[in-house]
Amino acid sequence: MKAMLAAAAAASLLLAAPPRHPQLDTWRRDAAGTVSGATSADLAVAVGSLQKPFVAEAWAATHLDAATPRWHCDGRSCWRPSGHGTLGLARATAVSCNAFFLALAAETPPAALRRTLEDDGFVVDGAMTPEAAIGLAGTVTITPRRLLDAYARLTRTPWLSGDGVRVELLAGLRQAAGNGTARGIGLRGYWAKTGTVDAPGRRGLETIGWALAVDDAGSSTLARLSPGTGRQAAAALGPVLGARAAASPAATSGRVRVLMFEALRPRAVRATNGGSAPATGPGGFVGPGASAWLRPGDRLGETLWELRLPESDLLRKVRAALDVRTGDGGGLEVIAEMATREYVTGVLAAELPGGAPSQRIALGAAALRLQAHGQRHASADFCDTTHCAWFIGRGPRLRWPSPRRAIADDDAVRPVDDQEWARMVEESLRPGPMHWTSNCGGRPLSAWAVWGSGDRTAASCPFHAAGATRPWSRSWPDDALARAFGGRVTRFEVAPEDGVLRLLVETPGASRRLLYDDAHRALASVLGWDALPSPPDRITRTANGFRAEGVGSGHRVGLCLGGADAGQAAYLRGME
Ligand SMILES: [Zn+2]
Ligand SMILES: [Zn+2]
Ligand SMILES: [Zn+2]
Repeated sequence: MKAMLAAAAAASLLLAAPPRHPQLDTWRRDAAGTVSGATSADLAVAVGSLQKPFVAEAWAATHLDAATPRWHCDGRSCWRPSGHGTLGLARATAVSCNAFFLALAAETPPAALRRTLEDDGFVVDGAMTPEAAIGLAGTVTITPRRLLDAYARLTRTPWLSGDGVRVELLAGLRQAAGNGTARGIGLRGYWAKTGTVDAPGRRGLETIGWALAVDDAGSSTLARLSPGTGRQAAAALGPVLGARAAASPAATSGRVRVLMFEALRPRAVRATNGGSAPATGPGGFVGPGASAWLRPGDRLGETLWELRLPESDLLRKVRAALDVRTGDGGGLEVIAEMATREYVTGVLAAELPGGAPSQRIALGAAALRLQAHGQRHASADFCDTTHCAWFIGRGPRLRWPSPRRAIADDDAVRPVDDQEWARMVEESLRPGPMHWTSNCGGRPLSAWAVWGSGDRTAASCPFHAAGATRPWSRSWPDDALARAFGGRVTRFEVAPEDGVLRLLVETPGASRRLLYDDAHRALASVLGWDALPSPPDRITRTANGFRAEGVGSGHRVGLCLGGADAGQAAYLRGME
């Protein structure tokens, strides 16, 4: 009580003082976990809505495999007086809806909320009410260091239970940076969250704004603007992040890091130096024609590497430097770092072998726009599958007669030449698609629909009118599905949520909602790459399995490469 009176007295004294110039403090945690900042990273502070993601974590831990709820916010228990309408977890995270998170906290046992918050580094002082859980009471605090750690974990480490909830949360943090409360950051490639708290001792008179952004490479930055709001803190953080990104080696050297063999996740890779000069390798140099087995921690210098995967008999050539790490599930993560032009060559080789000149320019420009948009993976800019852009380096191009076995076609890869490159760069500066698809099937989708992030609008396809569908259907036998999903599949359906296409997969004891890429990957491992050609329209039960139906091929987002008909030729000529 004494302290409160003293605080009130201090507040009234401060009222007479002229408005202060807002002060910005930042703390940064690099990908290795080292925290730096001008002020101490070890003083516990209240961070308000930055607690919200961990409320979702506690909810997930106590609602095993349940679908996240949707609630209506009419503004009565929210910071936004007009309310946020009906929303799910992703949107509620993006706009930081108090009503949604209060309801989520109320549905979670207080002991579970306390345990999760404490495990994540928060100090809980007092009763664990829903208001305290979402950061409204000021009774929960955390140090900048532990907060940065908690967010880095959130973006990189799957939860033991309810990881689908984490995926939704991450979509919300992406949206927050795109068009939500953290949009002031004004940059792509960040997960972000804001919070606004009362300034200590100035309850209701002055606030402090918080913004936290994590980039795909795993480094995170926390900003405190005092006085200020979360929104203003995000706007102040943007230039700090922008200056750092502009100074990064990737931006200045025009290089791309590609996560290789994303669909295969190999356990063994042998690299042969196919160049004419020695390259640095594990424990010294690898001479022309010499080989080395790749091990986690290896860094190999740039040359034309021939990578062989004994498990699948695959050969892939790539002109790049290589970084080798331990990937998810104990496999090898091979990251090839190369010049941007080399990356575009590898994408064209995969997507458009023998493509017309105008097609090559259009696709190359789209690849450059994708690069400008920012990285899409934690450890690399892009993967080598259609999730980002299908990439085969210097070849060879493969056909997949069975899921685990590839046959190489002997087409020579045509490098992007100087003239093409100049035109691609020029074209990429104009607005246009950055994703592409094999065939939209007459019904293009938005990036939001497929990946739960990015643009919510679907560009109409200039050469497939609605109705120009290319329907497909696939039968998935029960035994194959059991291998793909680790248990007999009892239910399988297309269940869009908040406009995001989700595939509901139920096995005894587990219910998962997968994005298209994840479902595709799981099915491809057993039934082949073509088992789910595009996001499906419907999945129905059959006598001994399920039948999926849809249209088109690829993810159906962006520039459609399908059907080289008269309309397409005219469109592509129009781009010249
Ligand atoms: Zn709300
Ligand atoms: Zn990817
Ligand atoms: Zn199309």
